[in-house]
Amino acid sequence: MAGTAVRGRLTWQTATVASVLDETPSVRTVLLEVPEWPGHRAGQHLDVRLTAEDGYQAERSYSIASAPGEPVAITVERLEDGEVSPYLTQELRAGDQIEVRGPIGGYFVWEAATGGPLLLAAGGSGVVPLRAILRYRVMVGSPVPVRLLYSSRSWADVIYQDELSRPSPGVSVIHTLTRSHPDGWTGYTRRVDAAMLAQVAFRASAGPLAYVCGPTNFVEAVAAGLVGLGYPAGRVRTERFGASGQ
Ligand SMILES: Cc1cc2nc3c(=O)[nH]c(=O)nc-3n(C[C@H](O)[C@H](O)[C@H](O)COP(=O)(O)OP(=O)(O)OC[C@H]3O[C@@H](n4cnc5c(N)ncnc54)[C@H](O)[C@@H]3O)c2cc1C
Repeated sequence: MAGTAVRGRLTWQTATVASVLDETPSVRTVLLEVPEWPGHRAGQHLDVRLTAEDGYQAERSYSIASAPGEPVAITVERLEDGEVSPYLTQELRAGDQIEVRGPIGGYFVWEAATGGPLLLAAGGSGVVPLRAILRYRVMVGSPVPVRLLYSSRSWADVIYQDELSRPSPGVSVIHTLTRSHPDGWTGYTRRVDAAMLAQVAFRASAGPLAYVCGPTNFVEAVAAGLVGLGYPAGRVRTERFGASGQ
């Protein structure tokens, strides 16, 4: 039938929730069955559209949390006063349907041929596309060294805690906890700053590629800090989630 043979990635389609998983008290991963998913690359996002009974629609973007080839998953942080994220993290159940379109984005993407070393920096739910990159790196057997600098409010707010705690050859995960930390915590306890980046980031002379993702203020501070360390601006890829607080 004309019009249905080729489904573009910007065409809305109905996805069914396969399962939901609480990552932290305010963050939930939603696994989706998307019948005509064309496949995605590590770092891309999709759009979600919700329609209320009165026809009101709201659209938001969510990074894809799963690696290429894995079922599509998104990980959503609840903003208490938000319009869409409370529904996705509290109301949505297995079997429910939502509209999605994608995958979207070609710049904040990592492929094996892209190389490294990789400096990944995440603020809060900004870790989502970086998790897809980490999983994909393992999947393709890439030896590229990775450092993930991950800023969370507290240890309880660390998303993918078990997965990131498991040793992975060539990968270092460095946490900073900005609001509270467990007794005996020896890691960083402040927002990412130039001194922290100087300690954690690969030297610019090693030719690293950086992926920085999170709230807009986090991304801008980290990107500026990396450029200050000599990273060429073109080697610092950024994804801004908007003005949520970190
Ligand atoms: C490419 C991309 C990828 C993203 N990936 C993720 C992801 O993986 N996980 C994730 O959790 N989020 C992600 N986001 C953010 C996501 O799209 C939503 O912005 C987020 O879920 C909040 O949506 P909401 O409807 O709950 O909040 P909104 O209703 O949009 O509100 C957001 C904030 O803005 C404030 N606000 C709303 N309207 C106004 C106004 N008129 N004046 C002043 N303040 C206002 C609200 O109080 C709230 O604090 C991504 C964003 C982008 C652009």
